[in-house]
Amino acid sequence: YRAKSSGQAVMHYSEELEGDTAVRLSLVEELRSALERSQFHLVFQPRLHRNESAALSAEVLLRWQHPTLGTVPPAKFIPLAEQHGLIDAIGDWVLAQACQQLASWRKAGLPVAQLSVNVSPTQLLADDFFSRTAALLATWQIEDGGIELEVTESSLVHDVVKASQGMQRLREVGCHIAIDDFGVGFSALSYLNRLPFDTLKVDKSFVDTIHLEPSSKAIAAAIVALAKSLDKAVVAEGVEILEQVAVLRDLGVDEFQGYYFSRPLAKEDFERLVRRSHCKSGSQELSQASMA
Ligand code: C2E
Ligand code: MG
Ligand code: MG
Ligand code: MG
Repeated sequence: YRAKSSGQAVMHYSEELEGDTAVRLSLVEELRSALERSQFHLVFQPRLHRNESAALSAEVLLRWQHPTLGTVPPAKFIPLAEQHGLIDAIGDWVLAQACQQLASWRKAGLPVAQLSVNVSPTQLLADDFFSRTAALLATWQIEDGGIELEVTESSLVHDVVKASQGMQRLREVGCHIAIDDFGVGFSALSYLNRLPFDTLKVDKSFVDTIHLEPSSKAIAAAIVALAKSLDKAVVAEGVEILEQVAVLRDLGVDEFQGYYFSRPLAKEDFERLVRRSHCKSGSQELSQASMA
């Protein structure tokens, strides 16, 4: 990296770097050692229930703090990790951290309803994923749906039978399953009634224009109705403005996640938010967080 060797200030990962094969390869090498160098951490994006008095949940999102590039976005490094066989180890770390964190919050009496963790297709399809996850849940005594695994439609297209068997076994040991980014893949409708899952997450692309375009609203309405008729919970992701909240609420969406309520938060900031929403004190953040 030129900026690195010339000793310039911290550089941020940019699109310019993306096409550069040498940079890409060295990024993979650095990704390989990022775990042992403790360069990963988790952030927590609140998920709010339409019933305001319900406890907060959060989606766990991975961050890579690169020594010279700064924070590399997951959209850049997760695909690299998947392509180079690193995602299973990284995903293990994320899940273990999330379980430990939830157990520790529960022990401290912090009312966090659920943490949802993203799982890559190769993780879900790995032979020992089920047993290792079951062991983790047992160790931390969170076999009550406190952990939800988010899988995308791409996990399902490779081997829908194996994926759905894995999902079913995970549910039997007290794990919840969510289908993430729903509606942007092509496959899911035909599989949906055969798949064991708890929650459907409506993709941000529908939410973006839901208050503007009747067609987005119609698709979102159909997704919500479908999920409801299958008795699943529905989460809307990428909610950025109040008008979207209003439409989604009318459609019957159960939970909301997005910048309108909160960006992904550092652990301490999430803890503070949970404490405050629990006490119902009236900060600016909270007046949004309580969906007044
Ligand atoms: P995702 O699972 O769909 O997560 C939601 C993404 O949307 C997050 O981006 C979140 O910060 C962003 N987001 C949430 N609300 C809003 C909003 O209102 N506006 C906008 N513009 N964005 C919003 P992030 O953290 O960059 O993660 C991107 C993707 O990387 C995730 O999409 C997920 O697929 C993947 N990812 C993140 N952490 C992990 C992980 O631990 N394991 C795996 N396998 N994938 C992960
Ligand atoms: Mg997700
Ligand atoms: Mg759930
Ligand atoms: Mg998503």
